[in-house]
Order: sequence, then C-alpha cells, then structure tokens
Amino acid sequence: MFRKHWITICVVIICVLYGIQIVWDQTHHVSEIPILGYHHIVEDCDKELYYKHNMWVNSLSSFEEQMKLLHDKGYHSVSLDDVYEWRMGRKKLDDKSVVITFDDGFYSAIKYAQPVLEKYGFDGYSFVIGSLIAPHRKSYQPDIRQHATLADMKDVSHMEFYSHSYDLHHKKGGFKVNLLNEKQLQEDTKKAAACTSIEYYAYPYGKYNTTIQKVLKKEGTKLAFGFNENRKARITDDPYALPRFNVDAYTKLDVFYQMVSQ
Ligand SMILES: [Zn+2]
Repeated sequence: MFRKHWITICVVIICVLYGIQIVWDQTHHVSEIPILGYHHIVEDCDKELYYKHNMWVNSLSSFEEQMKLLHDKGYHSVSLDDVYEWRMGRKKLDDKSVVITFDDGFYSAIKYAQPVLEKYGFDGYSFVIGSLIAPHRKSYQPDIRQHATLADMKDVSHMEFYSHSYDLHHKKGGFKVNLLNEKQLQEDTKKAAACTSIEYYAYPYGKYNTTIQKVLKKEGTKLAFGFNENRKARITDDPYALPRFNVDAYTKLDVFYQMVSQ
C-alpha cells in the first residue's frame, strides 16, 4: 500500500516536470531570431567630420549603446554555426538570441566594433569582399573607409570572417550577381573561397538569384544572408536567403530594441 503511494507520487512528479519542460520549450525556444547587419563604424568626432549624412557609417557611441542595451536586456550572441544547427532543426535557440554581422570587410569592425563586442561578451561575424581585402596595413585614416588586411583578420577574438563575394559588390548597370552566368558566378565564388571561408556568405546588397544560390550550395556554403529585409530569420526560411536587419546611422535605439524584441 505504502509502496503504491510512492509510485503514484513519482509518476505525478514526472508528469509535472514533463509539463514544465513543454511550457519552457514553448516560451523560451524560438522559431525566429534577429540577425543584425552593420557596415562601417567610426568614432563620433569622425562621424561628425567626415560622414555626417552617410547612413552606412555608424558612430561608435551608437554601436556601444546598442550593444549595452542587448547586454542589459539579457541577450546573448549566437554563432553562425548555431544558426545553421537551429535552421536544420538540431539545436534550440532561446528568445534572447541575437546574431551580429558586419558587411564589406572594413577595418573598423576590428578596430572599433570588436572591443565593444568583447566588453559585452558578444561575437561578431564580418563578411569580407575578397577583391577589396587590403594588401598592406596603412596607418588608420578616419576619412577613408579602409578595408582590413588578411593579417588584421588573423586571431581576432570575438570575431570571425566569412565571404561577401570576391567581386560581386557592384551595381552599376544592374546588380552584378544578375549580370553573370553560372560559370562566372562559380569562378567568383571559388576566388572568394581562396580569401576567406565561404561556409557562410552574405550577398552583396542582399541581392541574390537562383543561379548564385545553386553555385553556393554546390561550393559548400551552409547559409547565405540577404540584407535589409528588416524582419527576423525564421526557422522555415530558405537557408540560402536568410533575412537581416539593417542597423544604420539613422536607427534609433527604440527601433533597434523593437528589431530584437518583437
Ligand atoms: Zn556590402
């Protein structure tokens, strides 16, 4: 009799724990995550002097303010490997997950963004244009948007480097990705792979078509990112067309918080 009671109690406890697990899963494991996209970052005085009306150049103080907000609200950055595992249904991500990316391979991502990421314990992902990797490091000139060298990209903590094409970052006469045939896109992708990993790839201007998607799949890219769709990436999205938020110089802090929280 006494033993029977114990068995009933154990069964009830197991059922309650199972129920808690289900509720936890439903409330904390998400089916969409925010992927943030930045470009160039400069010190506030240089923003004022050289890039006052350039929306693609963010001030360091606004970047720091955004990262502090994420930190204070309990967010943590997730890696692109985590995003891939999540998209494949092999990993769960919680509602405080955020992905932080930088396009075009500017040296400023290393010089200015990386220390802020490190301060808050976040990781960033920089998408580099292969043909624009600087051959030699020149002294820092704030009025020029300098690209990083391969040496700059070595052993940078809290930041990894992937591809933004080798030389598709042109839009004169139409987005270059739409002007090339499959063979030419494959050549570009192979050249990109010789510079940085193409495991993850951000399309220049966020523009893509079925040919580049086919090429990337063939060359082993696991995820490819658009830009400026201004919505979260969903677990049901095409892995070769994951959307990102554009965080530019005009993104106010309340709008920024809406991006990650809603
Ligand atoms: Zn770009």
